[in-house]
Amino acid sequence: MPVGTVDSLESKASQTAWAGSAERDLLALGTVVAAIILFIGTGGSVLSGVFAQFAGTGMGPDRLLACAFILNIALIIFGWRRYRDLNSEMQVRRIAEEQARILAEIDPLTGCLNRRSIGDVTDHFLAEIALRGKAAAFVMLDLDNFKQVNDVNGHAAGDALLCASANRIKQLLPSESLLARFGGDEFACIIPFDPNQHELIDRLCEELIAAVGRPVVFRGAELETTVSAGVTRSDGLEVKHDAQTLLHMADIAMYNAKKRGRNRHYWFEPSMESELRFRSELEAGIRRGITLDEFVPYYEKQIDLKTGELVGFEMLARWQSPTLGIVGPDIFIPIAEEIGVIAQLSENLIRKALTDARSWNPRLTLSVNISPIQLRDPWFAQKLLKLLVEANFPANRLDIEVTENSLHDNVAMVRSMITSLKNQGISVSLDDFGTGYSSLSQLQSLPFDRIKIDRSFITTLPGNRDSATIVRSITSLGQGLGLPITAEGVENEEILRELRQFGDFKAQGYLYGRPNSASVTHAELAQLNLLLELPDDGSDAVEAVDEAVAAPDIARIA
Ligand code: C2E
Ligand code: CA
Ligand code: CA
Repeated sequence: MPVGTVDSLESKASQTAWAGSAERDLLALGTVVAAIILFIGTGGSVLSGVFAQFAGTGMGPDRLLACAFILNIALIIFGWRRYRDLNSEMQVRRIAEEQARILAEIDPLTGCLNRRSIGDVTDHFLAEIALRGKAAAFVMLDLDNFKQVNDVNGHAAGDALLCASANRIKQLLPSESLLARFGGDEFACIIPFDPNQHELIDRLCEELIAAVGRPVVFRGAELETTVSAGVTRSDGLEVKHDAQTLLHMADIAMYNAKKRGRNRHYWFEPSMESELRFRSELEAGIRRGITLDEFVPYYEKQIDLKTGELVGFEMLARWQSPTLGIVGPDIFIPIAEEIGVIAQLSENLIRKALTDARSWNPRLTLSVNISPIQLRDPWFAQKLLKLLVEANFPANRLDIEVTENSLHDNVAMVRSMITSLKNQGISVSLDDFGTGYSSLSQLQSLPFDRIKIDRSFITTLPGNRDSATIVRSITSLGQGLGLPITAEGVENEEILRELRQFGDFKAQGYLYGRPNSASVTHAELAQLNLLLELPDDGSDAVEAVDEAVAAPDIARIA
């Protein structure tokens, strides 16, 4: 029976409660014993007096002694009862305290130990198994898409998944192992093993990953998850690391398994630690970069293939890091999301982009990418409106790009967010289309203005029949739903030629130039005569914009 299960903990509780009852209330017991001794002492002369009186040979017992004798009997009865009551009261309290202690030690949902209690027992546990010549494997397991299960199927389903996972892990662990849940969806296992049979732990990890990965049926729905694991080992008698450090090392290895594709296990290696250090330096750098204003918007041209005109720009974030140089968004956006600074970062960028775009010809639109986390903020539409008002930028020139993957978080919420953005005149595009799993009914129910085909299908168009099939189906889907389409990733003339077969899209890509900084974009627009002369204080911006709408035609690019 694994030590960390409820069964073992409950049996521990009853043992402790029994052992506790051996302690007595000595004061009450002492009183009773003293009263009995007094009873025996006084009883002899009082009883012999009584018998003598009955036999007519004496005067009867001394009255004072008789009173003391009766009082003594009362004292014995009351003392004994008090002793008994106090004892059972103490026992009840001891059991309650023990149960409270157990509740503090175990995770009530899964019956595993919790983070605090595993820390308390592990060092002792390690010393004990080391004496028997065994090492311990520390395995940290983390479910890969638990949040999604919780969001899509609700918390009851999330709880069912956690319980099923804990039971499957328990069943596979050898007896004597410790199992704890570290809050959320993270489990820690400490498993004694023969130090020469390293491969047994690899096999166990594979079994654990396969077992937790089996679907869990909850109220008729199949809940699916995978799990990533990190492993390290104690060194038998030669104690190099304490339990806390070993758990931390397993955690680092688990983080590495996630990074390398999830649903697998990795043993800890020292190089992982330096990676982790680099990551925490990145986090600190991003936080610092936000306060020091190191994040800037770059702009990528958007072309109407039918007319060949430049119709707008997509804003793409860049980090001008003083130590790393120009860093792309694929590096810092996921980290900014994880550390909770994405909203602030994005708002700063949008503010700058709106200011930049105010000087462009007002027929040019501005597209900005929005993280799924921002879509979950009920105030997001209000915040955006405030930015538009502050920049005096017309809402109908702004386009928000929402990735297909963010639809899965919470479709109802995304729908209400898109609706309120559209009510303000902002248009909304579905980005990276084809990479997620949005259903046709989802697409129909969400009021998008445009679909952007993911660039992976466009860049591979020449010579790849699958990509051509996908582009063709997305095109007819767009036509069916009445949604115009943008193709991104138009890298060269060959791709453009292929693309034109499918219809008249809007296009973006390296063929039209790399994304550029605000100043380069400004210079390019000046050359194309697509800039607007704004008054310095921006006071008459709206009038200037109105005049410019009637200004020269937008330059042809392609
Ligand atoms: P995305 O929205 O799909 O943006 C297009 C990406 O494709 C950009 O990468 C762009 O530089 C790149 N690209 C453009 N033309 C071509 C081409 O012809 N061939 C190829 N292979 N690539 C091309 P970038 O700038 O590295 O941005 C990566 C992703 O980061 C963006 O993908 C977007 O999802 C995200 N992102 C960028 N800025 C922001 C932001 O401010 N907020 C959020 N939440 N995400 C952002
Ligand atoms: Ca985009
Ligand atoms: Ca995209």
